[in-house]
Amino acid sequence: MTDLPYRDPSLSTAERVDDLMSRLSVEDKAGQLTQYFYMASFGELPVDFDFEALPPEAQSFAKQPLMVKDAIAAGKAGSALFVKDAATANILQRKAVEESPHGIPLIFGYDVIHGFRTIFPVPIAQAASWDPEAVEAGQRIAAREARAVGIHWAFAPMVDIARDPRWGRIIEGAGEDPCLGSAIAAAQVRGFQGGVKGNAIGDESILAGPKHFAGYGAAVGGRDYDDADISDSELRNVYLPPFKAAVDAGAANLMSAYMDLNGVPASANRWLLNDVLRDEWGFTGWVVSDANAIRSLETQHHAKDLTDAGARGLHAGNDMEMCMFDPAFNRLPDAVAAGLVSEEELDASVRRVLTAKVELGLFEHPYADEDAVAAVLDAAEHRDAARASAEKTLVLLRNEGAALPLDADALGSIAVIGELADSPRDTLGPWVFDHDTDEAVSILAGIKERAGDGVTVEHVPGVKVEPRHFPSMFDRMDPTTPQTPEGHDDDAELARAIELAERSDVAVVVIGQRQNQIGENASAGTLELPGRQLEQLQALVATGTPVVALVMSGRPLDLRWANEHVPAILQVWYPGTRGGEAVASALFGDVSPAGRLPITWPRHVGQVPMYHNHYRTFQPEAQGQRYWDEESTPLYPFGHGLSYAAFSYADLRTPGTVAVGETATVSVAVTNDSSVDAEDVVQLYVHQRHGTSTRPIRELKGFRRVHVPAGETVTVEFELGPDQLRYWSAVTREWVQDATVLDVWAGGSSVAELATTLEITG
Ligand code: BGC
Repeated sequence: MTDLPYRDPSLSTAERVDDLMSRLSVEDKAGQLTQYFYMASFGELPVDFDFEALPPEAQSFAKQPLMVKDAIAAGKAGSALFVKDAATANILQRKAVEESPHGIPLIFGYDVIHGFRTIFPVPIAQAASWDPEAVEAGQRIAAREARAVGIHWAFAPMVDIARDPRWGRIIEGAGEDPCLGSAIAAAQVRGFQGGVKGNAIGDESILAGPKHFAGYGAAVGGRDYDDADISDSELRNVYLPPFKAAVDAGAANLMSAYMDLNGVPASANRWLLNDVLRDEWGFTGWVVSDANAIRSLETQHHAKDLTDAGARGLHAGNDMEMCMFDPAFNRLPDAVAAGLVSEEELDASVRRVLTAKVELGLFEHPYADEDAVAAVLDAAEHRDAARASAEKTLVLLRNEGAALPLDADALGSIAVIGELADSPRDTLGPWVFDHDTDEAVSILAGIKERAGDGVTVEHVPGVKVEPRHFPSMFDRMDPTTPQTPEGHDDDAELARAIELAERSDVAVVVIGQRQNQIGENASAGTLELPGRQLEQLQALVATGTPVVALVMSGRPLDLRWANEHVPAILQVWYPGTRGGEAVASALFGDVSPAGRLPITWPRHVGQVPMYHNHYRTFQPEAQGQRYWDEESTPLYPFGHGLSYAAFSYADLRTPGTVAVGETATVSVAVTNDSSVDAEDVVQLYVHQRHGTSTRPIRELKGFRRVHVPAGETVTVEFELGPDQLRYWSAVTREWVQDATVLDVWAGGSSVAELATTLEITG
């Protein structure tokens, strides 16, 4: 087979793909469009298991991977996912290359969400850095580690806008805002792909697959997988921009979403997957469905049967079906024969997949170098980068009376309280499967190391973080899921926690949720702290010992009481492999927290969805009184985050007037009025006073994370032009930029007060 044109690297990609296409049967083509989970990666099976030699229980688990191996050898699989080690990848790849009829290599995909072996802070935390360059650098490392084991492609970034913190997957995205979300989306694509647009990436990169196209974050009630009902203008102005940014940054792949969007499954939505994605945006990569989503077109009451589901899925614009068993795309030959979908459509999809494989160089280099893996996964500089990344993500929510930073020299003892404080696995967060929990530095370990020998640091787990009421579907795949130990007694633990706090100089209490209480399949009906954590916090404050609360969560939690009574509250998210050290460096003032909230923090679950870029009808002054029993304002606004420094803003300048289509430069001066060198995130917001359609009360239009030395002033410039000011009008059903007057604000959060105006003339 070596002399066949499709194997000849001196020919162009198109020539090679043409040649290969001419040799494929309709069945072979359908095979290339099929992607299987390889579940053996999560079992106790030997890498190259011999099915017949396995005991009966293992055989029952091994049936799925055995089926996948057979499908690969028969040329009925084009891709596999969840293969996470080089030896397994090579075994499967050998089947494809050496046994399948045309020897077409597999492409391996994986959920590389916030690191591979080295775990970075969870995505929402990375977004809280408001630092796209740092996010890009983190995903570069994730790409290098994943590629080393033979993974070619990430099911990431997740760029779904999320406005409802009940939705568990809010943790995987960049929060609520399209401007921040777009910048973070593009940064991640650049990080994964090494700045290369399309498939021809280097051998330390992986392809990016932004997901889930589109609107998954708007699941009704925050219930994962429920339908989303999004108006045309919200879809265009809020939900689609991060996808567009990811596509513009060169994402090679894209994943369609599960749920029903405005009355049609997103996975069967040709307008979205074809008209918008390909015709309007010029996307030339391939689209993969979410897991089992094409099959689900039948259970979603859209397709008549699996053949119909395959045809509808392909016709809508999915090029590959992700599946565990029995793919609907296996029926594509029948669908073509029955005239449900044309062979031309099938060919277009196969071409996209084969083009990716050729451009990636898979025909020349199908195998991972098993000997090189360890050095990449063990690289100390990756761990250092994870720590630096975590330091950037911490958000100081409250700091009354400069309770933080702690002064290690003045302290004799620190009480560290909370199960989460001493949980390396929770420190890593969800969506990690190749981590080494032993490498993770917990908050307790980080504090002990930083406090040094002169300070006594003692820990009491305290009351348990009440577990989920239903097991997570990921717990099986992750045997390290933390549990409260048998025999735990909440009353006794609470008493121990109080006793420890009473005899300590300060109590650092880690409150929040376990990593499996957030993420996919982990929506929540409440934002309250699980278990008796609030009661414990109240008891600790009542001791009179100063209390610092660290919030470990991937969503806003109900902190109303804490915000009244706990002087210092630091949002630490799930900070990753070196997270404990990062948290300690902020606690002791080695770094000043400069993370900012990428989401509005509601007071209470009853307020959600709540987001800063909402609309206003009459009575703006009554904005704070929309509910009679609760404030209508958030506990912490979007963009909020305090610093150990003190920043002030002045000299907000615009040109005063520009014409539609022109770009205005807006500048603002930020001064660090303290003696602490620190970073600040300067944010620019606008509001359009009148126009074709109404616009939100404020919209983020630019931001910059800047280092401002103590006592100095830095001037930051932003551009306001058609790219920032045009919007999709529900009136004209097209993009418009109005002649209007803009209110412009700059400062440190979405309630920034420094204001001016900019007139846009027609
Ligand atoms: C999730 C995707 C993920 C896929 C593969 C699905 O359940 O929705 O985000 O990439 O599984 O793990």
